[in-house]
Amino acid sequence: MTVHVPPQGEAPTFHHFIDGRWVPSATGRTFESRNPADRRDLVGRFQAGDAADVARAIMAAGDALPGWQATPAPRRGEILYRFGALLAERKEEIARAMTREMGKVLTEARGDVQEGIDIAFLMAGEGRRLFGDTVPSELPDKWAMSIRVPIGVAGIVTPWNFPVAIPCWKMMPALVTGNTVVFKPATDTPHCATLLVEVMAEAGFPPGTVNLVTGTGADVGDAIVSSADVDVVSFTGSTAVGKRIAETAGRRLKRLSLELGGKNAIVVMADADLDLAVDGILWSAFGTTGQRCTAASRLVVERSVHDRLVAMLAERAASLRLGPGLDPGTEVGPLINEAAVEKVAAYVEIGRQAGAEVACGGAPVRDDDLAHGSFFAPTILTGVRPMDRVAQEEIFGPVLSVIAVDGYEEAVAAVNGTRYGLSSAIFTRDVNRAFRAMRDFRTGIVYVNAGTIGAETHLPFGGVKETGNGGREAGHAALDTYTEWKSVYVDFSGRLQRAQIDNQPAGDEPGAR
Ligand code: NAP
Ligand code: MG
Repeated sequence: MTVHVPPQGEAPTFHHFIDGRWVPSATGRTFESRNPADRRDLVGRFQAGDAADVARAIMAAGDALPGWQATPAPRRGEILYRFGALLAERKEEIARAMTREMGKVLTEARGDVQEGIDIAFLMAGEGRRLFGDTVPSELPDKWAMSIRVPIGVAGIVTPWNFPVAIPCWKMMPALVTGNTVVFKPATDTPHCATLLVEVMAEAGFPPGTVNLVTGTGADVGDAIVSSADVDVVSFTGSTAVGKRIAETAGRRLKRLSLELGGKNAIVVMADADLDLAVDGILWSAFGTTGQRCTAASRLVVERSVHDRLVAMLAERAASLRLGPGLDPGTEVGPLINEAAVEKVAAYVEIGRQAGAEVACGGAPVRDDDLAHGSFFAPTILTGVRPMDRVAQEEIFGPVLSVIAVDGYEEAVAAVNGTRYGLSSAIFTRDVNRAFRAMRDFRTGIVYVNAGTIGAETHLPFGGVKETGNGGREAGHAALDTYTEWKSVYVDFSGRLQRAQIDNQPAGDEPGAR
């Protein structure tokens, strides 16, 4: 084990970041963040914020709005560039802190930070674009155009599984378009959020434009969502919490972006390259220990290759090395906490009760070095039917449910037969079938001959059905969450011109409608 276990007293205490200053919570209460690979390792103590802290942060964000909106967008973009460059400089340090705090293996943590860098640079460029439409008016001597304008104070509520990438996906488009931010990270990853905001402060975002308040969803998250002074909320997390937030935000007609759960499927047709499929399935099902919103949690396979594919997968999955993500040999890190271990174990039992067989894994791992961490063996359940709970509900752990089907139509029905619709994939060598899948799979993201994970920041990211409320993150689409359209007409004719009337034939003329 490479985990450093400091005496408890040594762990530092971190603060909220409000109006450009690091400040304690009004109550003085704190909570701990611990390493899920070894809970003896205390990362730090963080402010247990409440509604009073949130109110201070919202006020700072509101006060900063006029100055930030008056800053030309290309100048705002330059600060994003600086932030991206500073994040790149500190990539290794922050990736290591991320692995320590939430468990994902170091190579994946580096990828998480890289996604933050990528979206910073992409959105920095938007500062010089922010395209609207310039179109001809239907009247002579008249100008017509549409421009994007910021909405106001943005409330950003994020989960722990991409503790740098997801906050950046939200804050970069929010800021470049002229909004200011109140950011509440997950209570499982306050250290990652603190480091991120530290880099943002160093990059030169003016005081009040970015505010960080740590604390629970009930105390801090709800206060942000229900505030009359927060104009747009962007939330990533579970569907259950997302629905509650939609109700609260809906009462105030707030702009709201929701990125919620998934139950993503990989389809393997009999003509697929099975070796390639195995690589894609293992990476998608067990990468980040299955704790990705896009993780493959269902494998839909044509019956004729089912046994061979399952045997190949089980052998490889059983040999994946579990351990702390900072150990170079580790392939699968811990789950986020003990509650997650219990939840995953309960789902394996639910699967068993419904008749599934455990082809590999199926239980927590507590051997030797792993005794103080939250480890669960990569698990494959076979004999799962499309409507079984383990095929319908998000487990958010290293569990792959295998469903055998008798052909393409049955595969499509299985893929689409859940309340979620984030990501899907098909392995096939038949180009016609690949195109049918691109059309038929009802998900926001479709992969052909690759697993269900691997989104790039310059394309829209999000899902259909209960995965969200129709918005998209990343790409140009992200701008839609944080801007209103303003349509502008300039009449330089010097006389009254009436749209829909003066440019139409009068009613008594021939050819009039
Ligand atoms: P979660 O429990 O819904 O929490 C997400 C965030 O919301 C956390 O910061 C949480 O605070 C906060 N929160 C909880 N209750 C709240 C409330 N009543 N009001 C306001 N905020 C509240 O989700 P999670 O378990 O951390 O994350 C896993 C889930 O996120 C999975 O369902 C996964 O699929 C989803 N996810 C989706 C995407 C996507 O883009 N579609 C990406 C990643 C993850 P605490 O930290 O204090 O609980
Ligand atoms: Mg949670």
